[in-house]
Amino acid sequence: MAQKRKPSKKKKPAARRPQHKKPAAKRPQSKKPATKIPPVEEILFRVEGKMSTFGGPKDTGMSTDEGLALFAPTDLQNPKYSYLFLPTPPPGITGLGRRLNPDKYYFACRWNYNDTPKEFLKRALARVENPLNGRAADARPVDWGPNIATGRVADLSPGLAAALGLETDDVVRITISALRATPVKPGKAVKGSKEAKQAAPVSRPAALAKPVVKQFVRSPNCSCRQVGTKIDKIVLHCTEGSLASALAEFQQNDSRKVSAHYVIDRNGDIYQMVNDADCANHCMGANHGSIGIEHVGSETDSLAPPQAAASAALIRWLLQEHQIPRTNIFGHDFTPGYCRPGGTSCPDKLFGPVHSQATIAAWVAANV
Ligand SMILES: [Zn+2]
Repeated sequence: MAQKRKPSKKKKPAARRPQHKKPAAKRPQSKKPATKIPPVEEILFRVEGKMSTFGGPKDTGMSTDEGLALFAPTDLQNPKYSYLFLPTPPPGITGLGRRLNPDKYYFACRWNYNDTPKEFLKRALARVENPLNGRAADARPVDWGPNIATGRVADLSPGLAAALGLETDDVVRITISALRATPVKPGKAVKGSKEAKQAAPVSRPAALAKPVVKQFVRSPNCSCRQVGTKIDKIVLHCTEGSLASALAEFQQNDSRKVSAHYVIDRNGDIYQMVNDADCANHCMGANHGSIGIEHVGSETDSLAPPQAAASAALIRWLLQEHQIPRTNIFGHDFTPGYCRPGGTSCPDKLFGPVHSQATIAAWVAANV
């Protein structure tokens, strides 16, 4: 990333005056997440106990034609659900169970359909936690199980288990609250269709909690946003180096004066370096209305699963907190206003093998 953000001789980044006083804060609540009063949470489902994994082409514990309790083959056509499945069935597989994409975050519990009806569960987003290490991710219910004789309370996707650091027979905690009953994904059902009607929220979505920031490592390379500037986009970056080197570079005030609002480590730890209300120097030409998120990785890395989960959670919170349109999440090189489009390989291969905004958009559609 050494080259890409170097200001050209003709242009200097507009934002490099850290000593400026802040204007009257437009969104003071974004600076005080610790004092925000959390909404009352109505728990609709909660379970804690041992887990295992299931689903996907390699799950020989499922038969080739085994289906899922909550989904039918027609759901493969629904963009709201299709991301949970592999685009084409693996050889010899006819059921939906082994067509699940094991990298996506899904799970099964023994539901009582009187308390949590199938249609509710199809729309629900659950919080899945590893109580031992505190890691958590959002996941979708897809099936009924495991059999009570296993002594386990839930089966998770292999990707979800890995992201949370869980192995078979570790303890997991799963919660579905009324606040999270509405899926984050808006869905793309045709207006007036049956799916569109079913997609009606079961409860009003309340404010998401900001993901835990492990440490605020303040960068001097920021400035106040101009009064009236709306935060309207999120820019995704790859550090092309280690966490330590990114944190060190963003704290240097004597060279390139670069920074980002957030840096997400490979293990999912989130570091904040600039307040959202302030302008960071991460995408020359597009800093004034954007939030920059760096992801630790090399030019050839893809996102690590816990890093992807943390990034998606942070993006979800930012979208809601600042009312940013979902369509305004960009890779560095593809950001409207970026003064050197095509001038950087960032965010490299983190979000998919092809350097394109379509890759970013597909990742967002599947994960955020
Ligand atoms: Zn970048």
